[in-house]
Amino acid sequence: MNTKWLKTIGASLALTLAAGTASAETLRVVTDPSFVPFEMMDQETGEMIGFDMEIIAEVAKRAGFEYDLNTMDFNGIIPALQTGNVDIAIAGMTITEAREEIVDFSNPYYDSGLRLLVPKGNDDIKVLADLEGKKIGSKIGSTSYDFLMKNLDDNSGVTPYPGSADMYLALMSGAVDAVFYDAPNVGYFARTKGSGKVQTVGPMYEGQQYGIALKAGSEWLDEVNAALAAMMEDGTYKTIYEKWFGPMPEDK
Ligand code: GLN
Repeated sequence: MNTKWLKTIGASLALTLAAGTASAETLRVVTDPSFVPFEMMDQETGEMIGFDMEIIAEVAKRAGFEYDLNTMDFNGIIPALQTGNVDIAIAGMTITEAREEIVDFSNPYYDSGLRLLVPKGNDDIKVLADLEGKKIGSKIGSTSYDFLMKNLDDNSGVTPYPGSADMYLALMSGAVDAVFYDAPNVGYFARTKGSGKVQTVGPMYEGQQYGIALKAGSEWLDEVNAALAAMMEDGTYKTIYEKWFGPMPEDK
């Protein structure tokens, strides 16, 4: 686990201090080290950047908290919220009923789904049924892994990776025949680092939504929801969305 904590001073704190009043509370926020383009490290500055990073900065500013940011393998995030080691997680995290029993989720802030990624020119794998008995990369603790376990008769070839970077490396090196994972993430990888080498195929599986996860019973839930709603209302959400994903569909 990467234990480097990055200090982020919210603009609200700066304002509060300028006004000479008490400082805001500092919450522990955790994210995935690499879930493109939601969170990733800027190689030049060493800072975490991406869609989620801008969303949480804006939410913190509006809700009135400061935060320290840490990264953690995705599989460790829910346990860390459960034990109270962190207060908030933003990591392209899918809202599921099982998780809702353990943590509190904000209202949804991003519509997603699951998708297949294969080496360019691979014609054998087009839909989920083609994955039977094949070597498939997925991520430990993710909804894509659960989906494969549930929907494949022969899932003996499914390898769960702790991080998405390793999973993509496995695909590029031929260690796995396909990757099955979050649609925006495989799509972004195919357009960037994987360009010319890999391609997305088949339909979108399992429509799902991402939410910000808070430790159960968090007093910040209402504030976080209010901040998200205000950002969607005043166009701030749209600006951030379009920076990372291009034109926002009308129905968002
Ligand atoms: N959306 C997926 C999940 O919540 C994967 C998220 C991630 O890998 N950061 O399971």
